[in-house]
Amino acid sequence: MLRYNLQKMFKLMLPGIILMLLAPLIHSQLQNLSFIQQQLFSYLPPLLGGLSVILCVSFNQGRLLLTTVNLLCLFLLIQNQLQTSLSQPSNFVLFSCISLLFPLLQLFINFIPERGLSTRWLIRHLPLIIGGYLLFWIAAQKGLLTDWFSELPMGLIQMFSDPYLLSQWSISAFATATLLGLIILWFRATLADACLVIITLAIATMLALFSESSISVLSCTLGLILILFTVLFNSYSMAFIDELTGLPGRRALENTLRSAGRHYTLGMVDIDHFKQFNDTYGHDVGDQVLKMVASQMKQAARGASVFRYGGEEFTIVFKRMDEIRAIEIAEKVRTTIEAYPMRIRDKNRPGDEKQGRRQRSRSARPEGTTEVTVSIGLCEKTPQHKDSQAVIKQADEALYLAKQQGRNRAIACHIAQPRRRKVVTS
Ligand code: GH3
Ligand code: MG
Ligand code: MG
Repeated sequence: MLRYNLQKMFKLMLPGIILMLLAPLIHSQLQNLSFIQQQLFSYLPPLLGGLSVILCVSFNQGRLLLTTVNLLCLFLLIQNQLQTSLSQPSNFVLFSCISLLFPLLQLFINFIPERGLSTRWLIRHLPLIIGGYLLFWIAAQKGLLTDWFSELPMGLIQMFSDPYLLSQWSISAFATATLLGLIILWFRATLADACLVIITLAIATMLALFSESSISVLSCTLGLILILFTVLFNSYSMAFIDELTGLPGRRALENTLRSAGRHYTLGMVDIDHFKQFNDTYGHDVGDQVLKMVASQMKQAARGASVFRYGGEEFTIVFKRMDEIRAIEIAEKVRTTIEAYPMRIRDKNRPGDEKQGRRQRSRSARPEGTTEVTVSIGLCEKTPQHKDSQAVIKQADEALYLAKQQGRNRAIACHIAQPRRRKVVTS
């Protein structure tokens, strides 16, 4: 469990880690740019920020929108007010304050649950971020910051570790925001959570190395690229990935079939007596069964692509494979699922005791586990098939035959069936 969670967190953070590792390399190249090129480069964060705001709003990504605004406001304030030495008291006050403001706002964003974007939601959250930076911008414009200098608490004046420019308070705020971000990432495990952690770390690094030239442009650009990647990936997932099982859905199947060429075999997989699981153990256990079947299929059907077709039906696409090869893999899928000891985690015992007993006694299995089986119908694409829908229809007919012949079996429509005793179906 620990290793699995850590691996998952690492995978989610990988795009951000790659960008952070690339940063020193890009930074060294930036020194070779001409003055004009550097000027043009400094327009990238507002451009990417604008694009990110549009995409976050279009795809309902509230926390990423707030992070974009936090990053953009920080960048604009640095560009407008902090382009001269930090040894000036007003600059030092502004730098100390915004290096505390950014992580505190990230901490706040971490706490916000991801809900759909609405005007009310925006009115409740945006003013805090924009207002915070606006306050310091107005104070800087009015020359008030020098007066605040003598009133700054020691925690904001003393640096945590020379020569890095982060104050003791600022480093504590960054550490808390990162730690909370990691805890949320552990439990929720979404790409947006990983993005928030990486951006917090990247901005902490930027502020610690603030005296380096072009560091703010580079860090904000990379941060915004990461947000854009996350928004686009999330919207792709929403459209193509089934949320419950994590498998690609029907739309992805259509895309795959469009590019599958002329030589493939298609398998329709249906869980046997699935309605009984729902009726006996409840819908939640039904969902657990769907997840188990999906993950076992993915592991057993190596070399083929697995999709959730809908409900308790799945599709396997065996590219460049004939029915003989495909049925071998389908049999492996079927036997793997049959052998899996499905643990029923539901605390509520079945409502219908008789039905529950019947379900549990389907095979001699360890206490608390039950058997799940699937039926599979396969069809190889031939020149006679007008399109992929015709292949799906014929694979469905083979599946129907597998159900009729007693379930828990794979039948390919072009392979002759061994003679069986006639099964009487009710
Ligand atoms: P057969 O062996 O003939 O396939 O019988 P079956 O009970 O599996 O088939 P049937 O089509 O009668 O039942 C399918 C059930 O799948 C009905 C529906 O409630 C359930 N179902 C569909 N989608 C989901 C889902 O996402 N979660 C859960 N828990 N149940 C689902
Ligand atoms: Mg069905
Ligand atoms: Mg079924």
